[in-house]
Amino acid sequence: MHELALVGKMVAVVTARVRPARVARVRIQIGQLAGVLPETVQFCFAICTRGTALDGAALEIDEVRGRGHCRRCGADVTMETFVDPCPCGSLEIDVVGGKELRIETVEVQ
Ligand SMILES: [Zn+2]
Repeated sequence: MHELALVGKMVAVVTARVRPARVARVRIQIGQLAGVLPETVQFCFAICTRGTALDGAALEIDEVRGRGHCRRCGADVTMETFVDPCPCGSLEIDVVGGKELRIETVEVQ
């Protein structure tokens, strides 16, 4: 479960920034192609924040859709996985979005 390590890092970064304030809400972006499950991130957030400045903070997750650009026909397509073909049948798609994993906003109390 690499989400645990990721969330642990995120909590450490936020804690260092807001100290000595407490955090009320954190909003993050997770791309559908980031290889991270939002439910798992929620679960790990509850574990990792225990006893920190983020204890009890709400975690809001913005899911960003995967987006690709087809090299064959030039279409911009939505991707749920890395192997979604373009409607033209091509699998040669450059991923242009959906790999995000970042903190958007941190709201202190
Ligand atoms: Zn295409």
